[in-house]
Amino acid sequence: MEKILFRSTNRQSKTVSFEEALLRGQAPDYGLYMPVKTPVFSQKKIKEFSKMPYYEVAFEVLKPFVYGEISDTEMFELCRQSYNFPVPVEKLDQNIYILYLDRGPTASFKDFAARLMARMMNHFASKKNINLIVLVATSGDTGGAVADAFFNMANIKVIVLFPLEEVTDRQRKQMTTLGKNVKAIAVKGTFDDCQALVKRAFNDTSFSEKNLTSANSINIGRLLPQSVYYFKALAEIGADSIVFSVPSGNFGNLMGGVFAREMGVPIKKFVVAVNENDEFPRFLETGVYKPVVPSKKCPSNAMNVGHPSNLARLIDLYGGWLTDERDENGNVIRKGVLKIKPDMQKLRNDFISFSISNEETDRMIRYIYEKYKILIEPHGAVSIAAALKSNLTNCICCLETAHPAKFPEKIREILNLEPQIPENISKLDSKQEDFIIIDNNYFELKEIIL
Ligand SMILES: *Cc1c(COP(=O)(O)O)cnc(C)c1O
Repeated sequence: MEKILFRSTNRQSKTVSFEEALLRGQAPDYGLYMPVKTPVFSQKKIKEFSKMPYYEVAFEVLKPFVYGEISDTEMFELCRQSYNFPVPVEKLDQNIYILYLDRGPTASFKDFAARLMARMMNHFASKKNINLIVLVATSGDTGGAVADAFFNMANIKVIVLFPLEEVTDRQRKQMTTLGKNVKAIAVKGTFDDCQALVKRAFNDTSFSEKNLTSANSINIGRLLPQSVYYFKALAEIGADSIVFSVPSGNFGNLMGGVFAREMGVPIKKFVVAVNENDEFPRFLETGVYKPVVPSKKCPSNAMNVGHPSNLARLIDLYGGWLTDERDENGNVIRKGVLKIKPDMQKLRNDFISFSISNEETDRMIRYIYEKYKILIEPHGAVSIAAALKSNLTNCICCLETAHPAKFPEKIREILNLEPQIPENISKLDSKQEDFIIIDNNYFELKEIIL
């Protein structure tokens, strides 16, 4: 085997090792890291994954990417600790399957990425005998998954910023009831304010000794683990080829699938399922890319993204170049500029995309419950609605990315019933919360970090 290096989509920075890509998050030229090459698995090997536990598949798929950086024994152990929950795939009807990615500790598919990334970061930090500070801003789901994933890691402290008034009680509790190495900060402001504070901290040279790092969705360490369930689902379903319908926001989940296809999973097509933020289906249709600003508020709230951060990776893989225009200080002047057009014909061949309205989403939740007695939530509903709209007769696997209990108001409104709460979530209700409230003021944050 040979070590895999990582290059930037902006092509101005040097290629780096996995460790460096993981700890940097973003390349110095503001690009996103891509593996220079990907390993390819034989169809026979992929079929064998059906007999292995999930964590072993994760180990097999991911070890080439960390070769020479994390030993096999250590990587195996990190995968085993990360994936200690079920990943069921069930047949819904004829050619339609549902893959449930909502059984992790925070009942969101973000657990898949966050849990392994946290352990890999901790691995490198403890090997170098340094302490890392992970700083994240969140509008909801990510904060909980990240906080939970990093909880109790010996060499890492986590600071999560969230907008005081914009998260649900449960989302807040997922961040504020852990304690120990997880510090939760409520900002009297919006999610954008939180992000701006975090960004300023990363540019502040007074933290250069502090090993500040991010855990956002562009980190390659979060992306690669999301390839594994595509292998596992195909192997379990046992089809010769497959279509995945991916409920998409920042396109991290989708890129995980695209890498899986590069690695040999026989994926015929992706259905890119989006809510009313329809920049991608419009781009496929017209070839003109225009972010939706401001993004639209839909019930599938983790997908309220008007300019997907991982789209630059997809465009890169199809020969194009999507980047932000910046001034000489690195401040973004214009987001999402298509400098080089990708191969549109190839894109249209490999992807089909539908924007699902809020009304269609509600209708799908009701339809699936009435017809199959299966309860789904808004993100999964967008995925299934798009799959049905595609009219494809192939075997289609739809991803359910969150647990319905995270959306009790919606389920009550549509079906007039109370979703059963998984134990991980219900035990939050009785736990003690601990968090600091700050104004939207950088110096308050700075003091806490120092
Ligand atoms: C984050 C998230 C998504 C969107 O995933 P992307 O990788 O951002 O496309 C979908 N569903 C849920 C529940 C999420 O938390």
